[in-house]
Amino acid sequence: MSAPKYPEFIWHNGEIVPWAQATTHVMAHALHYGSSVFEGIRSYDTPNGPAIFRLTDHLERLFLSAKIHDISMPFDVDTLAEACRQALRRNGLGRGYLRPIAFRGLGGFGLSADCPTAVSIAAWDMGAYLGAGVLEQGIDACVSSWQRMAPNTIPTGAKAGGNYLSGQLIAREARRLGFGEGIALASTGLLSEGAGENLFLVFKGVLHTTPASAAILNGITRHSLMTLARDNGIEVVERDLPREYLYLCDELFMCGTAAEVTPIRSVDGKPVGTGKPGPVTQRLQELFFGLFSGKTADRYGWLEAVG
Ligand code: PMP
Repeated sequence: MSAPKYPEFIWHNGEIVPWAQATTHVMAHALHYGSSVFEGIRSYDTPNGPAIFRLTDHLERLFLSAKIHDISMPFDVDTLAEACRQALRRNGLGRGYLRPIAFRGLGGFGLSADCPTAVSIAAWDMGAYLGAGVLEQGIDACVSSWQRMAPNTIPTGAKAGGNYLSGQLIAREARRLGFGEGIALASTGLLSEGAGENLFLVFKGVLHTTPASAAILNGITRHSLMTLARDNGIEVVERDLPREYLYLCDELFMCGTAAEVTPIRSVDGKPVGTGKPGPVTQRLQELFFGLFSGKTADRYGWLEAVG
């Protein structure tokens, strides 16, 4: 496999440096113990210039993830917001994906060792996360043989590096079996979410999504879609959902910063509804992508200019 084309610059511990200089020691705590917190944020070209979608909300979630794991943050939200803008600007990116990460670096070797926190922000160009054409056609998903973490084990409300061992098991199993993405159940046996996406089911025009207590990450795209739906007269219900509802619903889609709004056309080989993206899914795609084309009003100040 050839290496991706890397960006020229990256923001690293307070300054923009050439990509190759953003290195860390192999004995960094995070590499051994998963002690990092991170975000995935998209920027879009809009009629008013490039804008970052819900930048402040993403950075605030980063600080909350750090709070859960006692990772001290050496920079404040405003500094990291400006750093995100710089990372895009210096790489000449309008549409892009931002990856801020804060991690316990080189310090002590023990589990509870105090280690200095390193912070980096990468920015790169990214198209549809689950492949070309998936936003229009949808993906084939499967229910994973791996469950999400049980309550009071590893908190899924934090976006922490260690959590993504679970996501990797789910996503890699799905890919190995020929599916576009895997859907996980919670330890309760009820639906949780995708490897890196939240889940919405549509029954008779009403949106249903799994609650925060179903071992999900409280997604910012999920919140955005719930808000857009309610503002446009689509009812939204947060509720526990059993697995078989995946096979009974009229429409099904995943959402996340990377996945945006990706329809699911089949689960475990069974078609969802007609097997094609349905009207509610398409309406939400239209409302969501409309934010960036200017067709959907940005009522909540979600677009933050790159400048
Ligand atoms: N769940 C998981 C496990 C994720 O990794 C993501 C992506 N951050 C999401 C849900 C969706 O969250 P968001 O919409 O904030 O990107």
